[in-house]
Amino acid sequence: MPLISIIVPVYNEEKNLELFYSQIKNLPCFLDHTFEMIFVNDGSNDGTTEILYRLAQSDKRIKFIELTRNFGQQAALTAGLDHCSGDAIITMDCDFQDPPELIPEMIKQWDSGFDIVYMRRRIRKEGFFKRLNARIYYSLLYRFSDLKIRGSIGEFRLINKKVLCELNKMREKSRYLRGMVPWLGHKFMIIDFDRPARGAGKTGFSFLNMARLGMNGILSFSLIPLRLGLLIGIFIVFSGIVFMIYLALNYLINNQFYKLLEWLAVANYIMIGFLFILLWIIGEYIGKIYNETKNRPIYVIENKANLSPDENTGT
Ligand code: UDP
Ligand code: MG
Repeated sequence: MPLISIIVPVYNEEKNLELFYSQIKNLPCFLDHTFEMIFVNDGSNDGTTEILYRLAQSDKRIKFIELTRNFGQQAALTAGLDHCSGDAIITMDCDFQDPPELIPEMIKQWDSGFDIVYMRRRIRKEGFFKRLNARIYYSLLYRFSDLKIRGSIGEFRLINKKVLCELNKMREKSRYLRGMVPWLGHKFMIIDFDRPARGAGKTGFSFLNMARLGMNGILSFSLIPLRLGLLIGIFIVFSGIVFMIYLALNYLINNQFYKLLEWLAVANYIMIGFLFILLWIIGEYIGKIYNETKNRPIYVIENKANLSPDENTGT
C-alpha cells in the first residue's frame, strides 16, 4: 500500500491536536493507503509536547520531532520534509484551516499522475486587513517574481517523492517553501477550496513574522529590488541632461547669466544619477552572489530515456 506522509508544524496547538489526529485517522482514503504523521513541535510552551508524546506512544504511525525552540513554520516544515518517507507528502496546519476532509481528493489527483497538488484559498475567512494584505501581496509577487501561479496558495499541498527529493536539495536558509516548490516546475494541478476560520487557539504569526515571510518571498524570487537603482539612475540622468540643456539654451539665446555654482548644481545632480546606476551594477553582482549562495539545483529533470536514473542530479 502506498504511504502518505502528513507533515504538520505545531506551535501551541494543544486544543486542536487530538481532534485533528482523529479526523485524519478516520479519513476514507486511509483504507487503501497507509499514512504516517510527522508532527514538528516548534518550541510550543503549552501542553502540546505532552499530547504529542502521548499520541506517539499510542500510535506508531505518529512521528514526532521536537525543536529546541521556536524556529518558525518554514523551519519546522523543513525538519518534517527531511524526516518523512512517504510516496506522497502532504504539508498542512493542524488548526483546521487546511481541512483534513480534502485529503482524499488530493490523493486522488496524485494517483491520477500529478506530481504536485496545490490547494488554493478561494475566500479567506479572516480580517479585512489580512485579506487586503494577501491580495496585494500575491499580485505583487505574481507580477515581479519568477513565480507564475496566481492566487493565494499557502503551505497546504501534496508533493510526490520525486519533488521532495529535488526540494530537499535546496538548502537555502531564508526559506519560502510556497515559492520553492513552484520554482521546481513539476507537473501540478490546483484545487480551490474555501479556507475556514481557525479551530481553537490563536494564530502563531505576528505581523512581524508575516512581514518577514513576505519579504523572503519577494527577495528570494526576484532581483527587482536590487535593480531599482537602474530606474532611479536613468530618471535622474535624463532629467539632469534636460536641465543642463535648458541652462545652456537660456544662456546662449537669452544671454541669461548663471553663476558657476548653478552649473555645478546641475552637474552634481547628473552625477548622483550615475551613482544610482553604479549602485545598480553593484546590485547585479550582489544578485549573482546571492543566487550562488542559495545553491539551488541548476536544472530539474522531468524524465530521461536510455540513461541511468541517478547520473547527473542537477546540483
Ligand atoms: N506554526 C509553527 N511555528 C510558528 C507559527 C506557526 O509551527 O512559529 C504552525 C502552527 O501551529 C500551524 C501553522 O504553523 O499549524 C500555521 O500557523 P497559524 O495557523 O498560526 O498561521 P495562519 O493560519 O494564521 O497564517
Ligand atoms: Mg492557521
